[in-house]
Amino acid sequence: MSATLNRGLNALREQIDAPVASFFTSCVSCGLCAEACIFYRATEDPQYTPIRKLDLMRRVWSREFTLLGRIGGMLGLTKPVTDEDLKAWEPLVYDSCTMCGRCTLVCPVGNDITMMIRKMREGMSAAGHAPVELIGAAERHNDLGSPMGELHPALHAQVKNAISETGIEIEFDKPGVDYMVILSAQEIAEFPDVLGAMSKIFKKAGITWTISNDAFEATNVGIQLGNRDVARTLVQRVVDAAEKLGVKGVISPECGHAYQALRWEGPNLIGRPYKFEVIHIIELLDKLRADGRLKTKGKNTQKLTFHDPCQINRRGGINQEPRRLMNMVTENFVETDDAGTMNWCCGGGGGVGANERAATLRSAAFKLKKNQLDKVQPDAIVTMCAYCHHTLDNVLEEFNMEQEVLGLTELVAEYLDDDA
Ligand code: SF4
Ligand code: SF4
Repeated sequence: MSATLNRGLNALREQIDAPVASFFTSCVSCGLCAEACIFYRATEDPQYTPIRKLDLMRRVWSREFTLLGRIGGMLGLTKPVTDEDLKAWEPLVYDSCTMCGRCTLVCPVGNDITMMIRKMREGMSAAGHAPVELIGAAERHNDLGSPMGELHPALHAQVKNAISETGIEIEFDKPGVDYMVILSAQEIAEFPDVLGAMSKIFKKAGITWTISNDAFEATNVGIQLGNRDVARTLVQRVVDAAEKLGVKGVISPECGHAYQALRWEGPNLIGRPYKFEVIHIIELLDKLRADGRLKTKGKNTQKLTFHDPCQINRRGGINQEPRRLMNMVTENFVETDDAGTMNWCCGGGGGVGANERAATLRSAAFKLKKNQLDKVQPDAIVTMCAYCHHTLDNVLEEFNMEQEVLGLTELVAEYLDDDA
């Protein structure tokens, strides 16, 4: 057995705990998770059912952790997982799963299928069977501070632009302020207007904030790749910077998996609670609205709909906050079918968007989102995740759809009441 296969199988074995055993013993093969999965629904290909994606882990569990499986193994009735198996499963585990959580939500026996896929990725990446794009992004993130490489110069340039556009100072590494803001590489590279938007809103609301040069990157490629060590290092970086600055909170930006990683997985990864709160930017804006510290004037008159990012709504619990903000600044807000917790994924999450090999499947999966949009025919789509924004921009163009995509923070800032 090769060293990498051994490492991969050991990583898979390490993931097998009581919830995993309970998963495999309690699954009643009802098929509801298949009907919930965007990739299965778009293709009707049985290999894309969530359960099939987990089959290698089931085999390891059965052969090594159950009496019948062990006996079967000794008698040569069951086959061990091989490197060829891991290679064959790589596209199932990485290309056809955005870790959207829809399957988990419908499982009648409460199996967290999404977390199982996450666990599968730990074994796959340890065995060297992960998309090269994710491996490269994790290396850049670990070594250079961001999945896109060294982003300090770009960040400083975007901050300078925001300062000159708004006339409001943004200070780096300022201790004792209310919040440390982290940003996704996607925002810095593609949607930097969010900086000026936050700056204006926070100034009006009397919030003090800073950006840390040590840890400005919000994303966590370790989670998407399935590498706990990388994921832990990246969370620890943010935690160390926030605790060094003594802020009361860290604002997680418009990025789905960044929120999931820092808010929900982070304390478990580093093995302790944080000394600060983690709040998503949209949660904070809604809180400011409720406290009367965010006041807007006028409303957008276009027909606008809202796309719920899986990691922020379904898996993050932020459901009504964006809707209250949408109603605050829009006159013609329309919901799509399945909006909210059962919304269809944009198709690019969980590292799928970065994975070139998955491009055709990703386009096929978009048809479910497209059906939602075609029914309401909005003028524009608002969202609260820069990666959904990026994915939607690309697929809308690919499908010759004319809608533009807007970030909710920027939309709110546009209607900020300067006189209040
Ligand atoms: S998490 Fe989403 S994409 Fe992945 S298997 Fe479940 S439903 Fe399918
Ligand atoms: S929904 Fe749950 S019980 Fe039904 S097949 Fe999927 S994992 Fe098994």
